[in-house]
Amino acid sequence: MASASALDIHVRQVSKSYGAVAVLDRVDLHVQAGEFLTLLGPSGSGKTTLLMVLAGFTRPDSGSILFGSREVIRLAPQKRDLGMVFQNYALFPHMNVAGNIAFPLRLRKVNAADTARRVEAALEMVQLGGYGARGIHELSGGQRQRVALARALVFEPRIILMDEPLSALDKQLRELMQLELRRLHEKLGTTTIYVTHDQREALTMSDRIAVINKGTLAQLDTPRNIYARPNNRFVAEFIGESAFLNVTVSGGVCRYRDTVIQTGAAAPRDGRCQLMIRPEQVQIIGGAPSDGMNRFSGRIVSRVFQGDTLRIEIDLGGGDAITLRVPASAAGLGSVPADGGPITLGLSVADTTLLPDAR
Ligand code: ADP
Ligand code: MG
Repeated sequence: MASASALDIHVRQVSKSYGAVAVLDRVDLHVQAGEFLTLLGPSGSGKTTLLMVLAGFTRPDSGSILFGSREVIRLAPQKRDLGMVFQNYALFPHMNVAGNIAFPLRLRKVNAADTARRVEAALEMVQLGGYGARGIHELSGGQRQRVALARALVFEPRIILMDEPLSALDKQLRELMQLELRRLHEKLGTTTIYVTHDQREALTMSDRIAVINKGTLAQLDTPRNIYARPNNRFVAEFIGESAFLNVTVSGGVCRYRDTVIQTGAAAPRDGRCQLMIRPEQVQIIGGAPSDGMNRFSGRIVSRVFQGDTLRIEIDLGGGDAITLRVPASAAGLGSVPADGGPITLGLSVADTTLLPDAR
């Protein structure tokens, strides 16, 4: 839930070029008050630049940014009331933990008694109660990142910006911190913009995800819709695994080669499209026709055991392939024919997703 003081953010037509390279190209984005919104995109797509523009460290060439109803484009960073967390922590090594967290309060001339109280509360919030006197070098990577987080939260900013804050941590700690950050966000309700290039992290943490491609917004939606209903091939390929089959639509009827593909409610427009198929959406079915299923026949060309699942590659002929994932249980493994053998896959109509042709 949004806290009473949370602000919404309007990014309007923000552009930034370095030389001839457009790093941000007319970006429009509305972040709701109290929302946890993630900027997700490959390295070099402009995520950090957009965050720096929001923070006031980078001046865009054009465009407008509103925090609530206030235009901030000409406002200095320290006047924007933002908490920031970076990948490399950016802690002061010569100060102890309490000194680091107290720093933003000192800048704001908070008195000693209030500072001590708020530093301790911020430490409690990130589960480091009693660590105030420790030196930074005495902390693990995860603890340092929590100190950086406490420092960003201690002055109760109305907006928090985080740039790949967990990417220096190992996988286990990263996953723990993802859940912890999410829990903290639910408690505080501060408008949060989080940057990552890790799609799973974005799906795990966010209310909504803004997928960024070459400085433009490719799609803004909930994690579920980004995954299941990508707008375009870039989003479909960047998030999760998928196969693409060329299909044609004519007179409202979609065909893969000669086979009619049922597409559910929305009638696609005539022309060429691509059918997106995620590995977990297809299942092995028998030869008999089955309702509500599109069917694909091929041969197994490879199988790879991946612990929890078996990943199977099916050749449909003509250069097309579908990847299938089955649970690596006795029942799952028992259902898979031998390599080279014929196999029929079913894709439910509800999972049948057409994308505009990318070519
Ligand atoms: P991301 O955070 O998504 O990896 P960045 O916003 O850091 O991407 O960078 C986007 C592009 O802008 C990159 O090609 C990068 O080289 C370029 N870039 C970023 N900052 C500068 C700068 N100060 N001068 C020149 N080019 C820059
Ligand atoms: Mg970056």
